[in-house]
Amino acid sequence: MSVNNKLGDAQVIVIGGGLAGSEAAWQIASRGVKVALYEMRGVKETPAHITTHLAELVCSNSFRSDDVNNAVGLLHEEMRRLNSLIMKCADEHKVPAGSALAVDRHEFSQAVERLLNENKNVNIIREEVTALPKDIPVVLATGPLSSEAIAEELKVITGQEYLAFFDAIAPIVHKDSIDFDIAWFQSRYDKGDGKDYINCPMSKEEYEEFVNELITGDKTSFKEWEKDTPYFNGCLPIEVMAERGRETLRFGPMKPVGLTDPRTGKRAYAVVQLRQDNKLGTLHNMVGFQTKLKYGEQQRIFRKIPGLANAEFARLGGLHRNTFINSPKVLTKDLRLVNCKNIRVAGQVTGVEGYLESAAIGLLAGIMTACSVNNMPHPELPPETALGSLLNHITGGANSDTFQPMNINFGLFPHLETKSRGDDKKRMLSERALKALDIMLAAAV
Ligand SMILES: Cc1cc2nc3c(=O)[nH]c(=O)nc-3n(C[C@H](O)[C@H](O)[C@H](O)COP(=O)(O)OP(=O)(O)OC[C@H]3O[C@@H](n4cnc5c(N)ncnc54)[C@H](O)[C@@H]3O)c2cc1C
Repeated sequence: MSVNNKLGDAQVIVIGGGLAGSEAAWQIASRGVKVALYEMRGVKETPAHITTHLAELVCSNSFRSDDVNNAVGLLHEEMRRLNSLIMKCADEHKVPAGSALAVDRHEFSQAVERLLNENKNVNIIREEVTALPKDIPVVLATGPLSSEAIAEELKVITGQEYLAFFDAIAPIVHKDSIDFDIAWFQSRYDKGDGKDYINCPMSKEEYEEFVNELITGDKTSFKEWEKDTPYFNGCLPIEVMAERGRETLRFGPMKPVGLTDPRTGKRAYAVVQLRQDNKLGTLHNMVGFQTKLKYGEQQRIFRKIPGLANAEFARLGGLHRNTFINSPKVLTKDLRLVNCKNIRVAGQVTGVEGYLESAAIGLLAGIMTACSVNNMPHPELPPETALGSLLNHITGGANSDTFQPMNINFGLFPHLETKSRGDDKKRMLSERALKALDIMLAAAV
């Protein structure tokens, strides 16, 4: 159903009461703006949610590391300082989990729902939205399992080629963890500027062992409702290619032609290529390495690739059902759809990955929308912050040709001039971020 006269005096519509939509509605309502929050569960189910509560955690009960000197913990802290509903309820309903922030999932989502219910500026409407309104500000936060009708609407607005129904993520590596005594920069046949890719060479023995590892490595299975997702032929997992024949990879993503290993002056037996993944040049993705290998297995097996023995992964690979847009192409810097400016998009649909990141974009979309309704400029997130880095990544920093969902990580942050490495550098990045955020908050008062 399209939105209707249930709207009452709402000034903004939020579609989707998950992590992002709940946070967006809270931020909007906290700024005195009346919001109608549409959530279809209770009327229509998704394949993964099992309750009707808002902000249900569909799988793990963890918001990951709460250490502020880690990019994830830093994002927690920044969101706390911006009065995040998700962080407030997570903090109030946490369970023991070492340095991670894990929650009692039922208490958590009930608390989110209760606080939104109690807020006089929020009207929760249980209904599936099937048509996007054109004449009122909207925050669209329908998540990775957006209903078909809304996905169809998005496809029309963004163009089919900019809406994906699954993610096929190849692992992403921090460039400064690659061993350049072994790896080298070169494009195949020296095309482009001649050095667009990082190449990791393999001998015949290394290749044979690698293929064995891929075939025998421990994999995750597809969920029943993911089995019909139409991606298998276009985007085969690397281990499936390996199973199809021992030479398949050497004639596919690991082909060595057009590349010369500068250490030997010869072509290697096989080559793993990595391509730049963000404008900053700090992250590189492993070309063609989408995979269903378990995370631990990916680290163990991929670190056997010459040049990647000490690789630090900004994110590991995966294949999942997931609805998301090519945000660097179709979103403005303030999260509006280029072709439909009354609609801001939030959450996993924007191509961030994870509970926390989804809520973070909901928080930003909520603040921006409330500020426009109140005819105020919205605060500019400093690029040094975790929130600013994530926003910059999806709205332009990422390469739109290879755009796939992304977690927060320090590889997204602007360069910090320092000789410090490891934990010291992370601490300095966090301090820089929180200082910049506090300056922004002080200026906004
Ligand atoms: C199976 C699965 C497991 C995951 N596990 C994890 C994990 O363990 N850890 C992690 O950090 N991330 C995980 N994620 C990724 C992601 O963080 C979560 O999906 C997260 O909930 C995304 O937040 P969101 O607000 O964007 O979407 P959601 O939380 O899914 O919220 C979207 C809401 O919109 C509603 N909706 C959809 N269409 C309509 C419509 N047309 N009208 C009205 N309402 C609508 C849905 O019912 C839903 O409540 C997982 C994703 C999936 C699919």
